[in-house]
Amino acid sequence: MNPLKGIRELVRGLQITSKHLCRHAITIQYPEERWTMPERSRGIVVLLSDKETGELNCTACMLCEKACPTAAIRIDAPRDEKKRRHLKQFIVNHGLCCFCDLCKEACNFSAIKLATKYEFSSESKEDLVWDIKKLQEVGRDVPYIDTRKKKKEAAKAASPKPEKAKQEMPSKPDKNEDKPDVTEGQTPSVPSENEKPPSDEKEGQS
Ligand code: SF4
Ligand code: SF4
Repeated sequence: MNPLKGIRELVRGLQITSKHLCRHAITIQYPEERWTMPERSRGIVVLLSDKETGELNCTACMLCEKACPTAAIRIDAPRDEKKRRHLKQFIVNHGLCCFCDLCKEACNFSAIKLATKYEFSSESKEDLVWDIKKLQEVGRDVPYIDTRKKKKEAAKAASPKPEKAKQEMPSKPDKNEDKPDVTEGQTPSVPSENEKPPSDEKEGQS
């Protein structure tokens, strides 16, 4: 082995060590210290509830189930006699989930999110299958932006007020306007070529 090469590697190693010596440590003393995940990181799939009513935002539209590439979502939402779906069960198998976020992207009702939570590892596969109750429970305190309200406000702002709309609407033309005054059973009189309107006659005299 070339001794010069060994010395060069040693100096390089010492340089890197001295560079990081005065910097903050990037490790934390887990579990005494816990890491706060960045807002947009993908932790665990949860269901979101309405902040006022506490009810699930999910409308059982099934879009997330269709969007999921690993079939990790299973929804049971039978239809009633009016063909409306009612959410009965919502299951997420975190053992199958690849944390792609497509379910959240597909949802139009701010009902599902990958929360910034961790520490859900388990030795049993069954523990990774979460039902609607657990998904709601874990997602209850998860902050989110309610896009449903934003959409409602935008729709409200876009639609004109009824009075204003009335003013802006063009008035319908009177059907009888421009029509010759003809009584039933009579044919409308057509002016003859020699007949001139009185105003024209006056103009010709002057
Ligand atoms: S994050 Fe991806 S894989 Fe996981 S449940 Fe959502 S769509 Fe499926
Ligand atoms: S979570 Fe969203 S996309 Fe999935 S069924 Fe509920 S409303 Fe539809």
